Formats: sequence, C-alpha cells, structure tokens
Amino acid sequence: MTSLRTYRGRFAPSPTGPLHFGSLVTALASYLEAKSRQGLWFIRIEDLDPLREPPEATGEILHSLETHHLFPDAPVLFQSRRHEAYHSVIDYLSGIGRAYRCSCSRKQLQANHGRHPLRCRDVSSTTSTQPYAMRFALTDEECHWQDQLLGPQHQTVRAEIHDPVIMRKEGFFAYQLAVVVDDIEQGITDVVRGSDLLDMTAQQLQIYRALGATPPNWLHIPVIVNDQGQKLSKQNRAPALDNQAPVENLFAALTALNQQPPQPLLTGSAADLLKWACTHWNRGAVHLTSR
Ligand code: GLU
Repeated sequence: MTSLRTYRGRFAPSPTGPLHFGSLVTALASYLEAKSRQGLWFIRIEDLDPLREPPEATGEILHSLETHHLFPDAPVLFQSRRHEAYHSVIDYLSGIGRAYRCSCSRKQLQANHGRHPLRCRDVSSTTSTQPYAMRFALTDEECHWQDQLLGPQHQTVRAEIHDPVIMRKEGFFAYQLAVVVDDIEQGITDVVRGSDLLDMTAQQLQIYRALGATPPNWLHIPVIVNDQGQKLSKQNRAPALDNQAPVENLFAALTALNQQPPQPLLTGSAADLLKWACTHWNRGAVHLTSR
C-alpha cells in the first residue's frame, strides 16, 4: 500500500570532525530525496560521546551545511539534550525484558570467544555492584527489509553479533538506541545514509519492533572512498570542505551521486544548483558499486 504520509527525512552526523566531502554527499542525497518528494528535511546532531567530539565540530558542521544552502525545516535536534528520553526508553525495554545490565569486562567477553555470555540476561545477575552497561536483547528472528536502493535485505542478526550495548559503562548512550528513539520522536519516515551503516539496520529494526513503532524506509548510498579505497572519514584524514566553494562542492557531490548536472550551473549559485538537483534527482542513477 502506498503511504500518503508526508515524507520526513534527516541528516544525522556525529560531530567527530568538520563536514567532509563524503558527509556532504550523504547530506545532499537525504536532502534531495526529501525535497524531490515535497517532504521535510531535518538535521540532528548525534553528539553522544564528548570524548570523541572536538567542541568546535558541531558549529563547523552546521556552518558548512548552511553555506551549502542545506537548510532544515525545523530547529536542529541535539542528542546531548535528549538523555531523559533515552533513560525512559531503557527503563521501558528493561521492564519488558528486552534490555539488561551487563558488567562483563572485555577480558570476560574475549574468554567467551568474543560473544556475550547469556547469563547477564538472567535477572538474578543484575544485583552486582560493579559498573554495568545496558544491552539490548536481540531475538533469533531473521530480519527482512527492503532497501530503497539496494533491494531486499535480510540478516539473522543474533547469529552474527552479540546483544548491542545501548548504554555504555561510562554512562554514555549508544548510537543504536539514540538513533531509533530520535527517528521515532521526529517522525522520520525515510532514512538515507551511508552503506557503512547497512549492518546496523537489522538491530535497529528489532529495537523499533520492541518499542512497537513503525520502522522507516531505509536507503543506503555507497560511501565515498579515497584513492586508497578507504572511506572518507576523519580517521582517514578526509579534508574539511572548503566553505568558500559551495557550488563546486555541490556540483562534485551531485557528480559522485551520478546525477550529471549541466556544466553551466557551475558558475551559478548554490540555490540554483540545488533547484536543478531537486527537479532532476534520480536515485536510480546512484552507483551501486563500492561499499
Ligand atoms: N550519526 C551517524 C554517523 O554520523 C549516522 C546516523 C544515521 O544516519 O543513522 O555515522
């Protein structure tokens, strides 16, 4: 059945460094998917881990998005201000038996062949006074979903990973939990993100189900790699975007998405280029290569 609900998309960077070309491509793809369908587009800063986030990164990312004319339809949401919501979802999941305390050390996990020993799921082991993480209890079900670009996907997630941590021992909330809680909170209908996150989807699907929420559509675009075939990221020293050259950057990002913008638009404004891109956006043209 085709849904008549308004498309609501988002770009949700973790502020571990300034915006680079790879993240611009992701931001642009999610923006164009939303705008080409008369949808709404939001920005969410996933600032969950202050130890990995230089304090200037959030401001730099927001400034870059603005200079590239990628304006959100609502004020930016910051995950650092959403701790209460994450706490209550963890309480809820614990209450229905889908989250549990785990005080296992790395050593203990290694001794168990890198898998999580299931005894932590047993309530009686939660009285320990040691620091604990919270884990989400996966089920054995095989998850199926339709990626909007990559087609049918399936994963028996429990066979591949152990129950994901949703709150770390240090008290930081994990991406897996926060991304689902906030996509639900913001009414996100469609998630467009890099294919490096494809393997996260089945776990997230299980969290949606545990919360009784409708999962969004997912579309994973190929990640941009450097000459050595590495993902562009801060770890691989991807250079920050040059905010003085938004039109050139957007043009290059559209080309990376295989959209073939007309050359004369290179000498025009960012607004005109984005207008062209919204009208001509063709997600089917995005290359399916490199993952
Ligand atoms: N915050 C995540 C990242 O920067 C992306 C989250 C998502 O799009 O689901 O890698």
